[in-house]
Amino acid sequence: MMQNPNRQIYSGPVFDMARQQFERVANHLQIPEMERDRLLYPKRAIAVSCPIHRDDGRTEVFQGYRVQHHLTLGPTKGGTRFSPSVDVGEIAALAIWMSWKCALAGLPYGGAKGGITVDPYALSPRELEALSRRYMQEMIPFVGPHTDVMAPDMGTNEQVMAWFMDTYSMYQGQTINEIVTGKPVSAGGTLGRREATGRGVAYLVARALDHLGISARAATAIVQGFGNVGSVTAYSLAERGVRIIGASDHTGAYYDPNGFDVGELQRHVAKQGQLAGFSTESLIEQSELLVQKCDILVPAAIERVITGGNVSELKCRILAEGANGPTTPEADVILNERGDKIFVLPDILCNAGGVIVSYFEWVQDLQRLFWEEAEVFDRLYQILERSFQQTIARAKRDRISHRMAATAIGVSVVQSAKRTRGLFP
Ligand code: GLU
Repeated sequence: MMQNPNRQIYSGPVFDMARQQFERVANHLQIPEMERDRLLYPKRAIAVSCPIHRDDGRTEVFQGYRVQHHLTLGPTKGGTRFSPSVDVGEIAALAIWMSWKCALAGLPYGGAKGGITVDPYALSPRELEALSRRYMQEMIPFVGPHTDVMAPDMGTNEQVMAWFMDTYSMYQGQTINEIVTGKPVSAGGTLGRREATGRGVAYLVARALDHLGISARAATAIVQGFGNVGSVTAYSLAERGVRIIGASDHTGAYYDPNGFDVGELQRHVAKQGQLAGFSTESLIEQSELLVQKCDILVPAAIERVITGGNVSELKCRILAEGANGPTTPEADVILNERGDKIFVLPDILCNAGGVIVSYFEWVQDLQRLFWEEAEVFDRLYQILERSFQQTIARAKRDRISHRMAATAIGVSVVQSAKRTRGLFP
């Protein structure tokens, strides 16, 4: 069979992960070879140069991307990442995962992801605003409320979304809130979006605890990453009675079997911008934190932190993937072979709360009708519950891992939509 020439565009370790996961699922579902390229390779990949004036008077050009994975179910949807690691392969993998995530949750979207290769913490606030606005301006021909809807991801936040929305709106001559989600409430965002991913993770962890017959009050958790996802997850787990015995960000890792006051951790980060300097007694090596004994381990930072090298050392009972792609396919095989089955909440299920509430935000913006916070969370938990039940049932029925089950459900939704619509022309 002829190979898709676009294959060469996408490479790197993160893209390889998405490809390997897809191949495993495609084999399990017995998807014919001729349908595989169409399902896996992105429909569009846009690369833009974003020049800005630096504060010292220089002009610097940053590389930006947006990958739109498939257009079969509706507009594409996904976050925007500002990080030095960003390249087209990483963004494509994240876009593919968004597709399976949205399909599993039953959202009418294809997956997308975008990003800029930049360390946002090395920019001044003015430079960050200039880069955010220039990126959105460069994307205007390729995005739209019914084409592709952006949101936050690593290194971006509500403020960046407000700049994206404002830039797009200024060019259109009218306010178009529905062009991005994850905006501040004052700029047309929804109540609950900021907390959605972390509260969703905590909800699913609670369901997993029920499943294993462990009481939240007797459980301990370690959370890697203290950005939007990690910090809200830690807070929401603590609210449910779980003792948070470990927390980290890229500047420091802390472990205390007696438990931390999450409010204290949050106040430290609000003041210092990072966890570094939080305490000297509880300081621990980053690599040591993940392998401490706990009931719930939540990787909520970057990809590929649970690898063939450390997966056998994990001493948790639940692995709740707040991050996208924290577990490598190699680690996954070992995880599935372990006798003491770890209950895995795979990323596309576990962190779906963010995009689900993004969907609610988009719907509210389109309708100009805003919901109470309680309605947002009720509806969020309903969708998460359904996805959780479907994943567990499928895994049991087919004797496969939760990741394979969740991905198989997502891939099947996209496959069946493509088959039903047919191939044009
Ligand atoms: N960046 C988030 C994710 O990876 C949210 C995407 C969205 O809300 O569109 O799921």
